[in-house]
Amino acid sequence: MALEDIVARIAAAERAAGRPEGSVQLIAVSKLQPPERVEAVLQAGHRLFGENYVQEAGAKWPAWRDRFPGLAVHMIGPLQSNKAKQAVELFEAIHTLDRPSLAEKLARQVQARGGCPELFVQVNTGAEPQKAGVLPEAADDFIATCRGMDLPLAGLMCIPPDGEDARPHFRALREIAERNGLSGLSMGMSSDFEVAIAEGATHVRVGSAIFGARVVR
Ligand SMILES: *Cc1c(COP(=O)(O)O)cnc(C)c1O
Repeated sequence: MALEDIVARIAAAERAAGRPEGSVQLIAVSKLQPPERVEAVLQAGHRLFGENYVQEAGAKWPAWRDRFPGLAVHMIGPLQSNKAKQAVELFEAIHTLDRPSLAEKLARQVQARGGCPELFVQVNTGAEPQKAGVLPEAADDFIATCRGMDLPLAGLMCIPPDGEDARPHFRALREIAERNGLSGLSMGMSSDFEVAIAEGATHVRVGSAIFGARVVR
């Protein structure tokens, strides 16, 4: 199945980059996929998934969690502040922390619950007006702001501009992470995950290359 092919390509990219086997986690991005395709990947033993919409994830995953122990679901889509509570309840990680108002909401949830998903700060490396994420020049300050709220940060995330060489964006993200002492790098999708691994990705987010084209609603 396509999953095995992607897993093998990740292992080859790790080797080519001289990185330890298993240093890259594969997030299978299951948004807008028919349930039978997701279930096939669950049956194959994969346990880490990515979702973009709180509502869709909330409808799909609780039943699968009962049947497939050890699941982790990561939020990789834009997160509205008013959904912070639901997100903290639903996800093991949130990759799209990108503004102080959301950080405040998350900090309040963390205080109330005493636990926190892994958090990644999204950086808009291409400074695209339509795209979420803090601007690269504002990243250091925002990271400090989050730390000031006692939010534990796992790393950084980016989505490079469409149709551009992704490598400089992956590199820029890694530099911001290094100078801020962050080890997690969520970068690389179906079309460029091998480049991302060469540039240090710890989490690649691969959807269509595993599941096929998404069903547009
Ligand atoms: C949908 C999505 C992906 C997966 O994209 P593919 O090209 O299907 O691999 C990865 N990251 C984010 C943030 C996404 O929204």
